[in-house]
Amino acid sequence: MKEKNGLYIHIPFCKSKCVYCGFYSTVNQKDVDKYVSFLIKEMALRCREANGEPIKTVYFGGGTPSVLQTPQLQQIINFAKKCFSFEEDMEMTIEGNPEQLTADYCRNLKTLGFNRISIGIQSFHDEILQFLGRKHSAKEALKAVENAHNAGFENISIDLIYGVNERNNERWQKELDTAFHLPIKHFSAYALTVEENSLLYRRIHQHKTVEPDEDLASIQYNILSESVENSPFAQYEVSNFAMKGWESKHNSAYWHRVPYIGLGASAHSYDGQHRQWNAPNLSGYFTQIEEGKTYYERETLTDIDQHNEFVLLGLRTRNGINLREMEKLFGHERTDALLKYFESEVENNLYQLKDNRLRLTPQGLWHADGITSGAFLTNSVDV
Ligand code: SF4
Repeated sequence: MKEKNGLYIHIPFCKSKCVYCGFYSTVNQKDVDKYVSFLIKEMALRCREANGEPIKTVYFGGGTPSVLQTPQLQQIINFAKKCFSFEEDMEMTIEGNPEQLTADYCRNLKTLGFNRISIGIQSFHDEILQFLGRKHSAKEALKAVENAHNAGFENISIDLIYGVNERNNERWQKELDTAFHLPIKHFSAYALTVEENSLLYRRIHQHKTVEPDEDLASIQYNILSESVENSPFAQYEVSNFAMKGWESKHNSAYWHRVPYIGLGASAHSYDGQHRQWNAPNLSGYFTQIEEGKTYYERETLTDIDQHNEFVLLGLRTRNGINLREMEKLFGHERTDALLKYFESEVENNLYQLKDNRLRLTPQGLWHADGITSGAFLTNSVDV
C-alpha cells in the first residue's frame, strides 16, 4: 500500500441550493451531529490506510464546511489527530461561505489549526449573487475576507464565477480589480456551466432563463488571462491562480496524482492504483459505515487509465507534462505518439514545447478538455 499525503473531509450540508450546483449536498441540517459521529467512525475504520506516514494537507470541502459549529469541527480534528500523524507545517484548508465567516468564527477556525481559507464569493455584485442563488451580499463577501484577514489568515483564497449572462465585460473587469486589491493570495475562477441536476438546468428547460452564452465566457476568460498578466497572480491550472509560492498544496497534489484519503458521503480516495468512492448520499453513507465498509465502489486503474489521467491532469496545469517522466512511466512510443498528436492536430498557439515539457498556453487551457480528450488512449487501441 502506498502512503497517502492528503486528507479530504467532505461536509455535504448547505444552507440553501445555488442555481448552478450539480454536487450532492443537502439543506436539511438535522443529521449534522450524526454525520460528524459517522466521520469519526469512518476514520477509525481507515486509520491504517495512511501507513503511519504523515499527512501533508487536510482539506475540509463541501457542500459548505462552515455550516459546522466550532465544537463539531473540533471533534473531527481531534479524532483525526489521534488517527493520523500530521506533518508539522501542513496546509489545512476550510471552505466557507461569506455569510457564516463572522469575526468570531474566523478566529475560532484559526485556533482550530486552519491556516488556509477558501471563500465562496462568486461575485461582488448583489444582482449576480441573487441570480446565482447565493445567500450573501457583496458587502458580506468583502467583510468575510476582512474577518479572515483580521483573524490572522495569510493564505486566503476566493472563488469567482464568470460567463454569467447578467454581467457584461466591463463589470467582470471591475470585479477582477476588486479581487486583486483584497488581501488574498489565491483565487479560483470558473466559467458558469449547466450541470444536469442543477436548478439552472431545470430553469433553462422550463424556458425561465437562457443558457449561459459560451462566447461571453470565452471573452471573459481572455479578460481574466490578460488581467492576471498585469497582476501579482499567475495561472497555475485551468481555473486556479496564485501569487508565487501560494499555490494550493492540496489541489496540486491531486494534479500530481499523489494518493489521498477522502472521508464522508460521496468522497473519493486514490492510492496510486485504485480510485474508490463512498456512497453518494447521506443515507447510503450511514449504511456503508454501519456495515463497516471502507468504500462503496472501487475501480482498479488500468495502464491506459493511468496514462489518460497523467495526460489529463498534467495538461490542465500550467507546468504541463514532464516528457522525461512520461517516458519513464509509459515508454517512449506513447510519448512520441502524444507529440505527434500535438503536431498534427493542435494549433501552434495553443501549446508550447520547451525544456522537455509540453504545456498548454493560457488560450490552450481554455480548450483543455477538447485537446486532452483527443490525446486519450482507448482500451481498444494499444500504442
Ligand atoms: S455551490 Fe457550494 S454552497 Fe452552493 S449549493 Fe453547491 S455545494 Fe452548496
